[in-house]
Amino acid sequence: MNIAFITSEAYPFAKTGGLADYSYSLPKALAKRGHTVHLFLPRYYCIDKYRFQCTLIGKPLAVPIGSGIRWAGIYYTDYIEGVHTYFIEHDDYYGRDGLYDNNGISYHDNAERFIYFCRGCLEALIQLEIAPEIIHCNDWQTALIALFLKIHYKDNANFNNTRSLLTIHNVGYQGVFGKEVLHLLQIPDTLYNPSNIEFYNNVNFLKAGIVYADCITTVSKKYAREIQENEYGYDLSEIFKAHSNKLFGILNGVDYEHWNPEKDELIPYNYSINKLSGKSKCKKALQEFYALKKNNFPVIGCISRLTYQKGIDILINTLDWLFFDEQEVQFVILGSGEQWLIDRFESLRAMFPDRIGVWWGYNEKLAHLIEAGSDFFVMPSRYEPSGLNQMYSLAYGTIPIVRATGGLDDSIEQFDEKLKTGNGFKYINNDSAELYTIIRYALRVYKNKLMMKKLIENAMFFRRSWDDAVKEYEELYTNIKKSNE
Ligand code: ADP
Repeated sequence: MNIAFITSEAYPFAKTGGLADYSYSLPKALAKRGHTVHLFLPRYYCIDKYRFQCTLIGKPLAVPIGSGIRWAGIYYTDYIEGVHTYFIEHDDYYGRDGLYDNNGISYHDNAERFIYFCRGCLEALIQLEIAPEIIHCNDWQTALIALFLKIHYKDNANFNNTRSLLTIHNVGYQGVFGKEVLHLLQIPDTLYNPSNIEFYNNVNFLKAGIVYADCITTVSKKYAREIQENEYGYDLSEIFKAHSNKLFGILNGVDYEHWNPEKDELIPYNYSINKLSGKSKCKKALQEFYALKKNNFPVIGCISRLTYQKGIDILINTLDWLFFDEQEVQFVILGSGEQWLIDRFESLRAMFPDRIGVWWGYNEKLAHLIEAGSDFFVMPSRYEPSGLNQMYSLAYGTIPIVRATGGLDDSIEQFDEKLKTGNGFKYINNDSAELYTIIRYALRVYKNKLMMKKLIENAMFFRRSWDDAVKEYEELYTNIKKSNE
């Protein structure tokens, strides 16, 4: 199949979060399955043309924006094996230090930057004579492609056989802009209404994608259901419900080359399901790193962005109780984010310095050590579209304790003592007391060596690779195509 994959970030070129990993792994997996994959990105300032061996191709590209035209360059590389990668260059828009913001302050012209990128990709496909069967767009930044295909390019022969798919990675980010951006879109005024692109007197790019894409996916089945409820839909639940016949969930995969305790070069001792001694040594190394007492107390780990979404406030309340009630437990965290959360952890750590360890900032190596050296891994998310850390934890035989939401619910099965099934612990409500109860239960299971061994085995048997996920995308692409014929 001929697929154009359009995204605002992709590893290793430009990354601010999970979208970049997804936009690397899925195109690569599709190419490995024999598909022709064209990956499109803006040429941000941080993308080094020399390092990535980019060459300028084609003629200067005339890209319509508003009532005028702005010229772009198209750069090409085959840096990711099997994936044709193109960058749309227009320095006025993308020649800046950040992808979307400058030190947390969004660029004032983000609407224009991504309208231009969407139009630029479609114009580039025409110029390069690439007629994709599927255009796969991601999040609000590229959602408008679905709208443009149906309005500006509906009679363009290049897209006769093209269908669009929009993947939503987090409904919390929608690309909402004032009415003044309408003129940049050059679409009929009649589309500015609540069942199309209007959103409480603003223009909502993600909503445009939801309405106009031929198919929508989110990154887990549970999240696809949740976003149709008020609590998770961020004011779009009714629109999701109205389009639920084309909405599907496909859980993200794990890169097991990178997250594998048998081969991981970032941890001090390797281990496997049959030989777990390396895991105990990693635990000692973790305790040493955080200056905790080296003992056999269960260690609960956490790696997270410190934000509302991740429920870190709920976790702190739980830890407040837990550390006063329970002497035999340790906790370590690696995170970055809101200062008030950091302050609360710091004061808790001051009370229990030999049982609580904190590290603030981004630290890839420490993330691997926490996955390897902890006994449990906690994710108290308010919502979690897919989540990766719980799946990394399973691979490392570290037992997830998670809130049953989104991808956490899809990947973690409640441990059953009698049947010896399940790979972790789940709680339902967004509530410190419930989290407290489930942690106490997990600590009780920890004391039973045989039971814990079985639980670790169950965890390490879990597999969700991109080779699995890609097959689900293939099936969906085929079905969307069929509905076109
Ligand atoms: P999200 O993408 O919402 O932040 P995920 O669980 O899907 O959450 O993925 C988070 C990824 O980022 C994981 O690979 C995790 O290990 C990593 N990560 C998050 N915070 C840090 C940090 N402070 N240092 C190192 N890695 C981190």
